[in-house]
Amino acid sequence: MSLARFRIGRSQAGLGLFAVAPIARGEFIIEYLGKRISTTTAHEHEWRRGARYMFEVSERWTIDGSSRANRARYLNHSCKPNAEAISSGGRIRIYARKKIAPGAEITMDYGREYFDLFIGKGCRCEKCAPR
Ligand SMILES: [Zn+2]
Repeated sequence: MSLARFRIGRSQAGLGLFAVAPIARGEFIIEYLGKRISTTTAHEHEWRRGARYMFEVSERWTIDGSSRANRARYLNHSCKPNAEAISSGGRIRIYARKKIAPGAEITMDYGREYFDLFIGKGCRCEKCAPR
């Protein structure tokens, strides 16, 4: 994987991931990296700092992606995302849902639970807050 395919930059919602080269539909972008913890433990930590980086892989396992080494944590939520997370074999990989042009922010839909907990009415995605 080339390091030059995306960069971390300023977005409407704080820091975000931006494409620096064209990304084809269906192309692998980045893996969501972190320590694997039990989903039960993750739920106990729900309201703690860093909880927004907990990524549930299954009923059993959750990835704690709060480490800065996990660059996928900079992916912002969008209600109209251009990327999606696919979990398999206990890992979470992010793929392009459509063609992504250089300069475009890479976004994914973090789902209802995340939205209610961390975004609420303040969604700043392209669909909710058009520029
Ligand atoms: Zn939105």
